[in-house]
Amino acid sequence: MFLFTYSASAQKIYSTEQRRCNLKISQKIPTDVATLLDQSLEFLANIKGTKGSRAHRKLFGGTVSGETYCSFLEKNIYSIGYSLTSSDVFASNFGGSVLLSDQVLQKDYIVLASALLHEALHTNYGSHVKCPSNKGEKLKGKNACDNKALSSYGSHYIFAKNLEKHCLNCSATEIESSLELGNHALKRIIGLDSRIRLRLGY
Ligand SMILES: [Zn+2]
Repeated sequence: MFLFTYSASAQKIYSTEQRRCNLKISQKIPTDVATLLDQSLEFLANIKGTKGSRAHRKLFGGTVSGETYCSFLEKNIYSIGYSLTSSDVFASNFGGSVLLSDQVLQKDYIVLASALLHEALHTNYGSHVKCPSNKGEKLKGKNACDNKALSSYGSHYIFAKNLEKHCLNCSATEIESSLELGNHALKRIIGLDSRIRLRLGY
């Protein structure tokens, strides 16, 4: 489940020539959602970078690159579809099938790219745990936290820091936007030691 109030505003010029990840995408996704999804996959698939951190290697693979992210998504997401929902959740994973909702249109392609990695992790890294009361009234008791550094919420931080340190063709806006999301997601990790481990070792 992906539930964030955070929303960024980076815009991407849509291109039909660059490579995408090879995922099964439902034809029933509305055009505006499908376009944003395409931009996210284009962004991920074309990342060029150097060797990532140890945490990055454990979660996604060794190199910060489109090949790494696509092969990770292809292994853990069996299909991407669409569902109507009245909640704030804009992406969810049902046994490897990721569903997007209209709420995703309030996000940008970087948030969706990071969210796809988050959802892909649910396939094999399990679901969230209940947030303790010190996470605030809105989150208290909700299954919207993680208790491990290597987790779906932890992945936003790991992804962002690795783009910052190792991406060779990411724009400043893309790095800034992913870092903002990563720092926001870090607050969803229960346990100071896990958060410190992420900050030090990302
Ligand atoms: Zn989740």
